[in-house]
Amino acid sequence: MPTCSEALQLILDSVAPLPARSTLLFDALGLVLAGTQTSPETVPPFTNSAMDGYAVRADDCAGATPASPLFLEVLSDLPAGSVATDAVRPGTAIRIMTGAPLPAGADSVVPVEATASEGTRVRIAAPVKQGANVRLAGEDLRAGEELLPRGFALTPAALGILASVGLAEAPVHPRPRVAILTTGDELVAAAARPGPGQIRDSNIHTMCGQAVAFGAVPVPFPRVPDTREAVTAALAKARDTADVIVTNGGISVGDYDFIKAVLADLGAREVFWKVKQKPGGPLGYWLLDGKPVFGIPGNTVAAMVCMEEYVRPALRKLMGHARLLRPETTGVFEGSFRKSVQDGKVHLVRVRARREEGRLVVAPSGPQGSGILSSMLRSNALALVPADALALKTGDEVQVHLIEEPEDH
Ligand code: AMP
Ligand code: MG
Repeated sequence: MPTCSEALQLILDSVAPLPARSTLLFDALGLVLAGTQTSPETVPPFTNSAMDGYAVRADDCAGATPASPLFLEVLSDLPAGSVATDAVRPGTAIRIMTGAPLPAGADSVVPVEATASEGTRVRIAAPVKQGANVRLAGEDLRAGEELLPRGFALTPAALGILASVGLAEAPVHPRPRVAILTTGDELVAAAARPGPGQIRDSNIHTMCGQAVAFGAVPVPFPRVPDTREAVTAALAKARDTADVIVTNGGISVGDYDFIKAVLADLGAREVFWKVKQKPGGPLGYWLLDGKPVFGIPGNTVAAMVCMEEYVRPALRKLMGHARLLRPETTGVFEGSFRKSVQDGKVHLVRVRARREEGRLVVAPSGPQGSGILSSMLRSNALALVPADALALKTGDEVQVHLIEEPEDH
C-alpha cells in the first residue's frame, strides 16, 4: 500500500500533457502554451497621439506664454482610424484624436485642455516638449521579440498581447474531459425526494464543481446502479469519450462494490489500490487503454479530498502546468486532534487557516468524520497529521496544503 506521496508520484509518472491544439483566444484563458510565442509584428504599428489635442511642431510653440500666446492655423481634423493627407508645416497644426497616426511634420501633441479654438486657429499659451504625448511605433513590442515562453498559463494580459500582434489562436494544451461516475443504488438526484434508505447524490456536484475549479471539463454521467452490467457499460462509455475517468463509490469491499472487478474485466492495469491515508483510504488508480482511472470512495469528504490531492495534480499535468501542487506550507495547530488508533496513516484534517502575527494558524473546521461535508465547507486548508503521530495539540507544527486559490471561484 503506497503512502500519499508515493501514490501521487505513481499517478504523475503515468500522465503527460495532452497534445496541443490551436485554440481561439476567447477559449484560451488559463490554458498553457505548448510553444514559445514570438511577435510577428510591432506594437504600436505606427507612431500616434496619446491625447486628444493638436499635432504641432515643438519649435513653433517655443516662445508661447499666457501673456503672449501664439496662434497656429488648423489644417484639418484627424480622428482615430484615419491617416492625415496634410503635413504640419511651420505655423500650422492638425486637430488629432487619441490613437490617430501622428501626421508628417508634427513631432508633439498639445492636449486640447491646454488650448483654445479661435475660428480657424488654435491658441497655444505654453511651450510643449519635443515628443510630448506621442506614442512611438514599437515602444511596446518589437517584431521578432519573444512574447511568452512555452509553459506560460495565459492570463488576460497575455490574451491581449497575442491579439495585438494578430495571433488570434494559440497552441495550448486543452482542458481534459473528466468523466464523473457516481455509483450507488441509494442515490437520487438533488431535485428528487429520497425514498426509504435513499440519499441525494451530492458528490456529482462537489466533484464536477472541483473539476471546473481545477480547469478541466467535467462530464457528469447518469448515476450508475450497483450492478456489474451497469458499471461495465458506464466505464466502457467513459473510456471511449473522456480523457480521465473518475468513479465514485463502490470501491471498497462491500458486496455491491463492482468497480475493481469491472476494471479488471475491461483489462485495466491496476497501479495501486488503497493509500495510507484517511479519509479516502480505499482510493484506487488504474490505466484503462492508457487513460487514468481514479476509483474514489463514496464518502462525501473522501471524494473531495481525493479529487483535491490526486486528481487535481494529474489534471494540471495533463494541461501542461509546471506547478502541479497547491501552495504547501507549515502552520501552527490550534485545538486538539487525536487518531482513534495508531493506524500508520496520514490524516488529512479539514482546517481553517488564518494569518496571525506573521504565522499561519490552523484550527479544525468541525467534526472530522469522512461523511461530514459541513466541515469541508468551512475549511480552506488540509493539515497533514503524519503517519507516525497519534495526536496534535495547540502549538504543534503541522504541514498544510492551502486548498483555496482566488481563481478557483
Ligand atoms: P461507498 O464508497 O459506495 O461504499 O459509499 C460510502 C458512503 O458514501 C455511503 O454512505 C454512501 O451512501 C455515500 N455516498 C456514496 N456515493 C455518494 C454520492 N454520490 N453522494 C453522496 N454520498 C454518497
Ligand atoms: Mg456504494
